Amino acid sequence: MDSGGDIVKVAGIPARAAGLARRFGAAILDQLYPPVCLHCETAIAEADALCAKCFAQLRPITAPLCPRLGIPFEVALGPDAISAEAIADPPPFDRARSAVAYNDIARNLIGRLKYGDRPELARFCARLMAAAGHEFWEAGPVLVPVPLHRFRQFERRYNQSTELARCIARITGLKVDPVLVDRVKRTKQQVSLSAEQRQRNVAGAFAARSDALGRLNGRRVVIVDDVITTGSTVKAVTKALRKAGVAQIDVISFARVVIGQGLS
Ligand SMILES: [Zn+2]
Repeated sequence: MDSGGDIVKVAGIPARAAGLARRFGAAILDQLYPPVCLHCETAIAEADALCAKCFAQLRPITAPLCPRLGIPFEVALGPDAISAEAIADPPPFDRARSAVAYNDIARNLIGRLKYGDRPELARFCARLMAAAGHEFWEAGPVLVPVPLHRFRQFERRYNQSTELARCIARITGLKVDPVLVDRVKRTKQQVSLSAEQRQRNVAGAFAARSDALGRLNGRRVVIVDDVITTGSTVKAVTKALRKAGVAQIDVISFARVVIGQGLS
């Protein structure tokens, strides 16, 4: 127990001094590594952000939008109007919201988020997601990230959806349950698959824990994903939760594919 004294001494630094040291440290870090845009790396004033030029390329999804699918409407159709897509193919979840339309810059941010080399990227995306999902948080839901299969998680040692959920939790004060749903089937990468192939690929890929209802204790679930393309993944996760008896399920993603606002 030789080091015991040192630990006590470190822990014993008055909070104010520790705060000053931290701020001083941050100031030195800013001098050595001035904050740069998360996309183009030009110098910016504030860390964890995009420069004005890159930010202007993001396409935030704002009202008016379909209350079920969260896709933007060209014109306001009234508070209860839902989209033709939601009528033709009603989603299993209650509501979905996404921060931005999937375009070149969103694709670049998500691509880098997946490999986890920039934790500040998750913080940036989560800030926009927390705003996009503002209707969800007041009910005190549990955030449930879309799980990776454990082999893939092992290879990558990082799940971008869990990181996003943790960052949203820090902003909203909500809890994350990263083990409520498990990926029980190893699926192919969805990228090159058609909508129908995607649906088949993820069918039965997820299972909620049998004690899911007990863990939730009456709280709603918000599924967290990085991007919604056809929605097949979040629908499969929703179905797994419904099978375990979970009744109230919403979805939040950073980006989603919006017809007519695609890649340039
Ligand atoms: Zn930039």
